[in-house]
Amino acid sequence: MKFCPNCQQTFPDQANMCGSCGGPLTYIPDQNQVQHAVNPNDHTAEYDPKDISDNKVFAMLPYILSIAGIIIAMLGAPDSPYTKYHIKQALKITVTEALLVLITAVLAFTIIVPIAAAICFTILAVVNIICFFRVCSGKAIDAPIISSLKFFD
Ligand SMILES: [Zn+2]
Repeated sequence: MKFCPNCQQTFPDQANMCGSCGGPLTYIPDQNQVQHAVNPNDHTAEYDPKDISDNKVFAMLPYILSIAGIIIAMLGAPDSPYTKYHIKQALKITVTEALLVLITAVLAFTIIVPIAAAICFTILAVVNIICFFRVCSGKAIDAPIISSLKFFD
C-alpha cells in the first residue's frame, strides 16, 4: 500500500503518483508483512485465534507428557490445526530424544558420545520449555534447532 503525505490518502501498490495532487507516494508495508519481517518463524497469524484459545491446553500436553501428551492431544483436538502444529513439533523433539537414546546405548563405551548426548538432551529440554511457554502465550513459533530437522514436514 502507498500513501500520499500531502492528501493523507492511501493508494494501491501499483500507483506511481497521488491521484489527487500528483505528488510522490510513500510506501507503507502491509501489517502482515511487517510481522513476518520481524520473525519469519512466527506462524501465529496463520491460526484462528479461537482455535488457539480453545485448544491451548491440548497444544501444551505434548510438551509436558511427551508421547502420552501427543496421543491425548490427537484424540482431544483432532480438528485443530493449532494443536497439530504443536503435536508435530513435540514429535520432532521426542523422536530426536529417542534417536539420542539409541545412539548412546550403542556407543556408550566411547564416553564422548554419552557426554555429547547429555548435552543434546539438555538443549532439547530447554527447547521443550521454550515451546511450552510459547503455547502458554498462544503463539505458533517454530522451535529453535528442532525446526531445522525436516522430518514430518
Ligand atoms: Zn496527494
